[in-house]
Amino acid sequence: MKYIPEPFRIKTVESIKLTTRAERQKAIAEAGYNTFLLRSEDVYIDLLTDSGTCAMSDCQWAALQMGDEAYAGSRNFYELEATVQEYYGYKYFVPTHQGRGAEHILSQLLIKPGDTIPGNMYFTTTRQHQELAGGTFVDVIIDEAHDPASNHPFKGNIDLNKLQAVVDRVGPKKIPYLKYETCVNMAGGQPISIANLREARAFCDRYGIKIMLDNTRTMENAYLIQQREPEFRQTPLKEIARLIGSYTDGCTCSGKKDGLVNIGGFLAMNDEEFYTRAKSMVVIYEGLHTYGGMSGRDMAAFAQGIRESADDNLMRYRVEQTNFFGDLFGAAGIPHVVPHGGHAIFLDARAFLPHISQEQFPAQALTAAIYVENGVRAMERGIVSAGRDPKTGKNHMPKLELVRLALPARVYTQSHLEYAAQGVVDLYERRHTIRGLKFVYEPPALRFFQGRFEPI
Ligand SMILES: *Cc1c(COP(=O)(O)O)cnc(C)c1O
Repeated sequence: MKYIPEPFRIKTVESIKLTTRAERQKAIAEAGYNTFLLRSEDVYIDLLTDSGTCAMSDCQWAALQMGDEAYAGSRNFYELEATVQEYYGYKYFVPTHQGRGAEHILSQLLIKPGDTIPGNMYFTTTRQHQELAGGTFVDVIIDEAHDPASNHPFKGNIDLNKLQAVVDRVGPKKIPYLKYETCVNMAGGQPISIANLREARAFCDRYGIKIMLDNTRTMENAYLIQQREPEFRQTPLKEIARLIGSYTDGCTCSGKKDGLVNIGGFLAMNDEEFYTRAKSMVVIYEGLHTYGGMSGRDMAAFAQGIRESADDNLMRYRVEQTNFFGDLFGAAGIPHVVPHGGHAIFLDARAFLPHISQEQFPAQALTAAIYVENGVRAMERGIVSAGRDPKTGKNHMPKLELVRLALPARVYTQSHLEYAAQGVVDLYERRHTIRGLKFVYEPPALRFFQGRFEPI
């Protein structure tokens, strides 16, 4: 186990509060056993998400002062546009307030009612927007992705046989695009390989199907390609990221992850007509096409964040920090998803709590128990996140029942991670005392955000 020293030093600190177990028991009950409903002040180490929780650099804070807050034609828009073109290689770019803003526009413009959208595992907001547009998502990720213990190096890859089966069943005309996600979040941050992307491109070209990338974690994926795909051992991350983009027709991006900003996103594409339509839609839902829901300073920080994210040293530190964190669980025999992905470690709640059935939300229960144990906030990524099938109303029953401990970029130190892992190790000894949960309030959409529970 090696910890790569931080390639930065700390200039500003923020105090965090240690609470007592009694305080945490009260707080989680008040939050309906849902860590999304906790007050952040009651959390000691916040591993809820890496989304928008990163620490910005001195250069990004300086960039904020360079915000051009003109309503139209802000200088920072042109800078961000040029940065997206340079780092990801797409011709056209539309800013959005965050990733789901881009997903909304993409889905409304490309999906027709009755369409099918194959993808390498679902993402919560992505699938929601596909369904709102009348589409149906079909998972075509390789089987290994659904097995937490499989050591496949690229568990984000697409199974071309599964994709072929979808094409044979519905026909290529009913498939507006293939959704291809880098470092697949719901699979445990699992990367895709360039080899798989090349095959998918050739396949889609045969049928005239577009590939739309979910670009949210492309730099982390580029690092894992550099490590695991021999052809790219010496290739700089920036080149790998451009190569990924070159096999696709466009992308949605949440800048809140790899992009190292607290808010921001974009939709990018090579097709001019699609761009024109996206620009006219962005003014309805996000803002003018030269700010799309971001202020000028947000765009300035985002452009700087993209440039920093392509730094090989920073990304090595980021992904290897995650790997170190995972090794702490591995050394203690805690069941978790391997190989470790780029942004988070995912505990296998089924194996951790075999006495709790999936209908009693084991990952949700484990997330609440971890918070009570040491004030660490994690997130459920299992049956609660998977939601219900809109046609049958039945729960989706995902094979993966996970608790995600996500690492905000550049925020926590080695000792924070050791503390966080120790709590889980201690809890593992007493895992039989953890009880299942039941819903007391279930929201109709994206229920994991606002649902409330009670112990059984
Ligand atoms: C976070 C995320 C999104 C949605 O982006 P937001 O900025 O949260 O709206 C989409 N896809 C993936 C893979 C994500 O991780």
